[in-house]
Amino acid sequence: MEAWVSYAYLAAAVLFILGIKGLGSARTARTGNALAATGMLIAIIATLSLARVVRFELIIAGVAIGGVIGSILARRIEMTAMPEMVALFNGFGGAASALVGVSEYVARRGAPFEGADMVSTAIVLSLLIGALTFTGSLIAFSKLQGLLSSQPVTYPGQQVANALILLAALTLGVAVATSPFSETYLILLVLVALALGVLAVLPIGGGDMPVVISLLNSYSGLAACATGFVLGNAGLVISGSLVGASGLILTKLMCEGMNRSLPNVLFSAFGKHVESAAGGEDNRTARSFTPEDAAIIFGNAQRCVMVPGYGLAVAQAQHAVQELADTLEERGIKVSYAIHPVAGRMPGHMNVLLAEANVPYEQLVEMEDINPELPEADVALVIGANDVVNPAARTDEDSPIYGMPILDVDHAKHVFVIKRSMNPGFAGIQNPLFFNENTAMIFGDAKNVLLELVGALKES
Ligand code: NAP
Repeated sequence: MEAWVSYAYLAAAVLFILGIKGLGSARTARTGNALAATGMLIAIIATLSLARVVRFELIIAGVAIGGVIGSILARRIEMTAMPEMVALFNGFGGAASALVGVSEYVARRGAPFEGADMVSTAIVLSLLIGALTFTGSLIAFSKLQGLLSSQPVTYPGQQVANALILLAALTLGVAVATSPFSETYLILLVLVALALGVLAVLPIGGGDMPVVISLLNSYSGLAACATGFVLGNAGLVISGSLVGASGLILTKLMCEGMNRSLPNVLFSAFGKHVESAAGGEDNRTARSFTPEDAAIIFGNAQRCVMVPGYGLAVAQAQHAVQELADTLEERGIKVSYAIHPVAGRMPGHMNVLLAEANVPYEQLVEMEDINPELPEADVALVIGANDVVNPAARTDEDSPIYGMPILDVDHAKHVFVIKRSMNPGFAGIQNPLFFNENTAMIFGDAKNVLLELVGALKES
């Protein structure tokens, strides 16, 4: 390899790492994205310079078609549909690795077999992980998109059946790596890996799909890393391992935010299990306020904490909440936003939405920092959040979310909850917060209610 190519890959790796670091905060995310994209451009140019026979017209056509589709999708996609889009990206990444694995394996046809080596092992890993990532991601996408039921699909003996299929895939993988070229082994390995992806994701409920997508993201990175070894490409090895490691870290953070283990997410069929837990109804009645009633209490407040959740994203109410915050601040009321790590349906969901509405970063306060301040708040305004403010997580050992860290909004002097009904949220369980003496519900779509609150405050 020419020396400048090695330096180019090194520069790309540094840019990838700086990019990931930048993506860690809303303030630096755009720069991080641009740095990582520049790194990828450098890596692509370096790789193309290595190829002896290059059909540039095909490469340019591929880049143009992919680039147009990618940019149209990225611009049009709703924030709430981002997990679906990431699922598709992961799936295609896995498919690309599997296809390289197939082509490199087929290229060995006719060559004398000299025993299993690093490349044959890497080919098997590209095929196996790439193919299961492809079908697993398509199932995750279909569950989120409503093409398949989001309910966990379970049957007796499922985990044993899945374990046997995994064993079959590993056995075939060993056979492919340690035998001379065999079309049969290749086809069987790919088919079993494709089936494994489908069967592993079907038993997982739609609500847990963001965690699965993050895990599949990690798998797509591992598949790319294996492909890097197949092709002897250092750039691909580095970028694949970075995706693999960061996907795994994100998966761990999401599990911790829900206080669940990864095996619990993957094997407990969570959505099905919690439906029965929804039965634990609270017999007390919840108070209901109109926006005008609530505006009177806001008018006397000095400190207000906004608590956004999934319903804010559904209602696309980020601009409306910012308008309310401006109105309150004009009256000298201090406003901050309490951010729970798993509010919404993907990591950073609330930060991204609120950044879109130009909410100042310094007003976004993480859970650990806002909880001690909540007893000082005159009003906690819960906007389309439910599980992340459910006190049962602190007190009810039988609750499926027991132990999940929550925002202690019940400690505020007044709590208003904006949602459309008494229906439960993601975990499917009733929320005792709604029946507390200091809580009042304001029923309606989050955006409409927030705008009505702004109107009522301006009139008062
Ligand atoms: P949540 O518990 O799912 O509750 C959202 C609430 O929003 C619902 O109760 C719903 O009530 C309300 N809502 C929906 N549309 C609305 C609208 N247009 N206007 C007003 N309200 C609306 O949400 P959360 O409190 O944000 O908690 C997130 C949950 O997702 C947690 O259980 C978390 O573990 C899970 N999760 C998060 C991630 C992540 O990475 N963030 C990943 C996987 C799972 P109504 O129907 O009555 O309106």
